[in-house]
Amino acid sequence: MIIDMHSHLFVKEWLPREFWEGIVKTAQSQAKRIMKADIPFDEMEKIALTPLWESSEKALLGEMEAAGIDKTVILPQDFEIGLSRTEVTIEEQNRLHAELMKKHPDRLIAFVGIDPRRKNSVEFLEKGIKEWGMRGLKLHPATGFFPNDRRFYPLYRKCVDLKIPVLFHSGPIIYPLRSQPAHPVYLDDVAADFPDLTLIAAHMSHTWWQDLLAIAAVKPNIFVDISGWELEVMARYEDFCRILKRFIDELGYDRILFGTDGPGFRQVCPPRDYVQLIRGLLQKSPEGIKFTAEEISAILGGNAQRILNL
Ligand SMILES: [Zn+2]
Repeated sequence: MIIDMHSHLFVKEWLPREFWEGIVKTAQSQAKRIMKADIPFDEMEKIALTPLWESSEKALLGEMEAAGIDKTVILPQDFEIGLSRTEVTIEEQNRLHAELMKKHPDRLIAFVGIDPRRKNSVEFLEKGIKEWGMRGLKLHPATGFFPNDRRFYPLYRKCVDLKIPVLFHSGPIIYPLRSQPAHPVYLDDVAADFPDLTLIAAHMSHTWWQDLLAIAAVKPNIFVDISGWELEVMARYEDFCRILKRFIDELGYDRILFGTDGPGFRQVCPPRDYVQLIRGLLQKSPEGIKFTAEEISAILGGNAQRILNL
């Protein structure tokens, strides 16, 4: 079974204007660096955002089909406190995620996404899990809060009670979000104080992967997902193989989860290609590195199946 542990539905009205602006500005600077092209903001807005907004649900299910992905975890993102108001409230966005899961119970798994600084976060989480059938919690520290803030401990306690995992965005992030609170070191306190809580550090912390490896090596309840590494795998395949191997060696392959961070890479490396690249590790690993079929199959889905009790 293949499970995408980390994906999103990008609907224009669900996220604040600055977030979309950040994506366009990043795409502009990449175009400048890679293609030496100066693309005006308006033009880049069309190029970068239109494909992200196009028929979110239908596109996601189509991509899953093409990639052979059996199940996808969809993660709502609460950017309102950290950035600015959204046209659709976070309560409504969560409800819509839960509804999509109900509509496609074999394919989609929804997590609750809420800013822990909200006064009703514990009650809201409980409602999402117990009434709406959601399966985990997504937190986005890059909106400006530190995961080890003691004010959030009741929320983690609730996750332990409900037996659900918490997935944290981890790693440096684009404007207007903040990188510092998304450093993996801030997960260490939480992992220490809640040994029965399953924490997932998203994106293998990107370029902070060594810091994540250091923390996760001493905290067995920290898992990692490899979402958002598409470009790295395409551009620096050997480096990626070595990094993944380090994680397997030091954490064990049972704590590494496949994910895409879709639809962010839809245009450059769709889920089908990413699944192929990960599957291909079996045949195409660089000299001196070997991955086993057991490892690849656990990473692609077996581990997520276990964590999510599927
Ligand atoms: Zn994400």
